[in-house]
Amino acid sequence: MTDGMSARELFGSHSSMTYDDIVILPGFIDFGVQEVQLRTRLTREIEIAAPLCSSPMDTVTESDMAVNLALLGGIGFIHYNNSIEQQTNMVRRVKRFENGFIIEPMVLSPDHCLADVDAIRERHGFSGIPVTQDGTLNSKLVGIVANRDIDFEQDRSILLRDVMTVDLVTASKGITLKEANRLLRESKKGKLPIIDENGLLAALVSRTDIKKNRDFPDASKSSDKQLMAGAAVSTRKQDRERLEALVEAGVDVVVIDSAQGHSIFQIEMIEYARSSFPDLQVIAGNVVTQDQCAALIQAGADGIRVGMGPGSICTTQETMAVGRGQAAAVYHCALLCREQNVPVIADGGIRDIGHIVKALSVGASCVMMGLLFSGTSETPGEYFYQNGVRLKRYRGMASIEAMDAGGDKRYFADNEQVRVAQGVSGMVMDKGSIRNLVPYLCQGLKHAFQDMGVRNLAALHDALDQGELCFETRTQSAQQEGGVHDMYSYEKPALGTRERIE
Ligand code: GDP
Ligand code: 5GP
Repeated sequence: MTDGMSARELFGSHSSMTYDDIVILPGFIDFGVQEVQLRTRLTREIEIAAPLCSSPMDTVTESDMAVNLALLGGIGFIHYNNSIEQQTNMVRRVKRFENGFIIEPMVLSPDHCLADVDAIRERHGFSGIPVTQDGTLNSKLVGIVANRDIDFEQDRSILLRDVMTVDLVTASKGITLKEANRLLRESKKGKLPIIDENGLLAALVSRTDIKKNRDFPDASKSSDKQLMAGAAVSTRKQDRERLEALVEAGVDVVVIDSAQGHSIFQIEMIEYARSSFPDLQVIAGNVVTQDQCAALIQAGADGIRVGMGPGSICTTQETMAVGRGQAAAVYHCALLCREQNVPVIADGGIRDIGHIVKALSVGASCVMMGLLFSGTSETPGEYFYQNGVRLKRYRGMASIEAMDAGGDKRYFADNEQVRVAQGVSGMVMDKGSIRNLVPYLCQGLKHAFQDMGVRNLAALHDALDQGELCFETRTQSAQQEGGVHDMYSYEKPALGTRERIE
């Protein structure tokens, strides 16, 4: 009698199983956790160091998330619930990002007053502000105000021209971070404005950042050494213009965002992208069956996004009765996609590291997450307090609220009089920064790989194909047993606030 089941046996019953329904049996460990490699493929042509993507949702991914996730080895997909100009500007911000340089610093003019500096400090927490001739970036740098210039001043209506420091230490555009570091150290200043050949302000370097600046050896970068940026487009014909603008802005990969991706609209969009921009990587979806995958791959997809209904904010399976348990969906789709050498991105329903492990173990190459990244400081939106808890908003793109703002493009809801929501909007707790969360997730994943006895994703998928990776289903009591139980009380720290082990 064999112990455990292969994935083929597990999913052979065609029950709509999901991550919580299954458990992976351990393998043999003959290597250290530091030997585990998480490098993976996102699409046919793109490799990234960590198998993590952020969802193209308007409460999850704008440039801040995309920059920081790329620095940490994953990739962010910028949402399209905005104008073409807004979305392309976000992509440009990611592509232009240089570690340690503030490329869009807050700027004031000589005619602003101390109260304006106070307002910036209150809102953003910093007070070292460059002063330019007309108060904008790319205008002539004329001075700088720092806290120590103004903190004893009683009269907050005094103009900056009367207090700013004009004797400036600056650096020229093109300077390396190392050199900027040296200049800041020698000058003993707090800020180093970077100016172009005409004296126009181009960027700012802050002493605080240099002190805490880490190198990001795993950053996801394109061949020109810029950070990699992903973005979403819909299947609508009008979005061909958006696609063109995104390519112009330097996007590396687009995801064609549709709740049910097996449609003529999606196939036409893939074919259009393929023929117009042969170098662009295109992820198609969302799908949950092999037939759907085959159609999209045939149309030219470079990656397949799998998931219909598992999302935390999603009510699709309840309202539409169509979808599939996410573990089964990923397994069956990935089986076909592996034969075609096309990576699968398991999208939605990830609540913890264990779910990421299971998604990868049943065949995904990457996971896409909204919930897990929601509430981090890199997501759009402001924090607020309710009953003493620090919260942020998180909403489905098919919630009424997001549809009102344009998110209904993924649901074929063009000008419909009656719209059926397939998502909810709500609040999530503050998870801190993804600069802590992502290393925590990666370290957890490495331990899980070690427990399964595999050193990397290729070995994991090989074990899956060979039937060497063994699973079992979990009864309801097994699921209960696997969680914390029988405690009088206990505290489970929120994901993002768990200590990071350096
Ligand atoms: P300050 O001396 O009061 O300006 O504050 P610090 O130098 O201690 O902190 C500034 C922090 O805010 C650094 O981590 C900056 O990267 C960050 N920051 C982000 N945007 C800006 C900006 O537009 N201007 C300044 N001065 N800092 C910024
Ligand atoms: P989560 O990580 O929150 O479990 O799932 C995020 C995923 O849910 C997204 O990547 C997207 O595929 C999907 N999604 C986003 N908004 C909605 C929505 O309003 N309805 C449905 N059905 N799915 C959504």
